[in-house]
Amino acid sequence: MAFFDPKAKNIANYQRSIDEKKVSVSRYYDEIGRYYYKQYKDLNVDNTKDINTRCDAITKLTNEIEELNVKILYEKGLKLCPSCRTENNLEYTFCFKCGSRFDEQASAPAAEKVEETEAPAEAAPVEEETPAAEETSAEDAE
Ligand SMILES: [Zn+2]
Repeated sequence: MAFFDPKAKNIANYQRSIDEKKVSVSRYYDEIGRYYYKQYKDLNVDNTKDINTRCDAITKLTNEIEELNVKILYEKGLKLCPSCRTENNLEYTFCFKCGSRFDEQASAPAAEKVEETEAPAEAAPVEEETPAAEETSAEDAE
């Protein structure tokens, strides 16, 4: 059953982390919109710094989501072609769709080996990486 499959548990953890990050990304988009509008309404207001902070946070979260998606694929025995983004079997050396060669270092998630041998699934470190701005900013931006 899926419940006893460590891969399924890892995938569920990754997916939960992705969902949380997506919520944060949406909130940052909302905040950027609010900051931008304040600036638009009042030329004396300069929210550039606040806006840029959130843009950076979105970029960081988007990259983290991308990495988690790669990890989920890895658990499923798949990897993404760097050229055409097609899902390929992990063992493939060349993309079956476009023929691009896989770079061995790039195809496997860096932290994967450590996690499989040592860290239990519940010790997923990914959730702490959310920027600290998240907690304080949501209310301030009203
Ligand atoms: Zn390809």
